[in-house]
Amino acid sequence: MDVWQKELIIGLLLLLAVSIVGGMTGFFMPLALILTLALLMRQLYQINRFEKWIRTGGRAKYPKTSGVWEEIYYHVYRIKKNEKKRKKKLGKMVDQFRQSTEALPDAAVVLGANDEIEWANKAAREVFGLKQTDKGQRIPNLIRFPEFIRYLKSENYKEPVILPSPVDHSITLAVRIIPYGAGLRLLLAQDVTQLKKMERMRKDFVANVSHELRTPLTVLKGYLETLQDMDDGESPLLTASFRQMQGQTERMQHLVDDLLLLTRLETKQKKTECVNVPALLSQICKEAEVVKDNTPRRIELILETEAQLMGEEQELCSAFTNLLGNALKYSPEDSLVKVRWYQSKDSLVLDVEDQGEGIASADIPRVTERFYRSEVKRNKKVGGTGLGLAIVKHVLMRHEAKLTIVSEVGKGSRFSCCFPIKRMCS
Ligand code: ADP
Repeated sequence: MDVWQKELIIGLLLLLAVSIVGGMTGFFMPLALILTLALLMRQLYQINRFEKWIRTGGRAKYPKTSGVWEEIYYHVYRIKKNEKKRKKKLGKMVDQFRQSTEALPDAAVVLGANDEIEWANKAAREVFGLKQTDKGQRIPNLIRFPEFIRYLKSENYKEPVILPSPVDHSITLAVRIIPYGAGLRLLLAQDVTQLKKMERMRKDFVANVSHELRTPLTVLKGYLETLQDMDDGESPLLTASFRQMQGQTERMQHLVDDLLLLTRLETKQKKTECVNVPALLSQICKEAEVVKDNTPRRIELILETEAQLMGEEQELCSAFTNLLGNALKYSPEDSLVKVRWYQSKDSLVLDVEDQGEGIASADIPRVTERFYRSEVKRNKKVGGTGLGLAIVKHVLMRHEAKLTIVSEVGKGSRFSCCFPIKRMCS
């Protein structure tokens, strides 16, 4: 029998007793009133005891009681106990998480909605010079580099920002922000000093080697030209050798020039001017056609807008020339190459479209890598350095532009350079 049934039976028995005694003595109503009051007082007493117990947190063992109230005490006590257990487990998990993040080699800082520091691990305290007392302080007041403040405000955290450590400027950090939860952000900083050092060494090495190769190459080319002039054509082997040597030195010269251009693109300060893109494209197309004078016109230039672009003319010229050169190089001599300059909703676009051999979809993401040439090209020995599209990518990056490649094997390719409309200057 459950407690409610028991409680009901007791109530009914009491009512029965009152009815009998009341019936015998003629005081039924007063007795019924006394019974109701007594029951009410008992409940009030129990509520009072319960309220006192719960007010103190319900932590102590509940007072001795019986019936429904014992059940109520027992259930509340059990809920409290489970909650305590869960809290303990959660606390342990948080401790473990804190210990592991404390041990992380990367700096981690939890930021609140107003950029205030909520928590920082040991590495963060070391590289950013944060103290335990900095909790609650706004991070822009402690890391004052303008590029960091700009990054924090930008709310575009796709790429990390590279900063020196405020404590030791010889340490380079890649700082990244990851938003999570309601307005919370996790700031992660990784020490990339070695990586940056190696990158610098690679750039210096490539720049030095390319630079040093220039002089011997010029000398070699000079002598080759003299020897070719002296060749009377009596020995076909000699003539063929000279031609091949000239071809190879020219190829090497292109390589060195492209490498030097790439180095310049990586290191040179950006300078911008208003570039007359329609005029530039007309000139590039004219020059490309002059080279192939004996073939019919292959290039169709469509200038849908007169828009000019904020940028670096020399760099844009290299990029566009490379794209057009590739389109002509990798398509049949009698096919058409379309160059189109137009304005879309939020960008200025240059399309270079050919009806050539196309690029396999697996190759598309790789063609802008340095020295990447598809196997077919390597085997066919189509002239090239494998640096052209790497140059295009770099130039576009410096102009906040994006390169998209749409290509189908056997049908042709379309290379689109999309410049943000904010760069339009006419
Ligand atoms: P290169 O042309 O000197 O080999 P690039 O960096 O300009 O080097 O191009 C890399 C590779 O991308 C080329 O080797 C070729 O396989 C592919 N490619 C580039 N442009 C085209 C194009 N218009 N059509 C087909 N393949 C192309």
